[in-house]
Amino acid sequence: MTEISAANAPPVGNRCCAACGAGFSCRPGACWCGSVTLTDEARSRLRAAYADCLCPGCLQAVSVSAAEADGPGTR
Ligand SMILES: [Zn+2]
Ligand SMILES: [Zn+2]
Repeated sequence: MTEISAANAPPVGNRCCAACGAGFSCRPGACWCGSVTLTDEARSRLRAAYADCLCPGCLQAVSVSAAEADGPGTR
């Protein structure tokens, strides 16, 4: 039997994290990063600092640090 290994298929939306250099996949329009909770400010800050979206770990770190910097009761 002849089977084509899925490992030979090119990764979908393969990218490199601009922050740590780790490889991850990002699909335009249907990316996991859209489901990460980020404030509008954190999002715009990310766009200003990085041309692409980051790997799950870095995006999560940005989300957490942004929440801490903002503070729950700060106005
Ligand atoms: Zn990263
Ligand atoms: Zn993404």
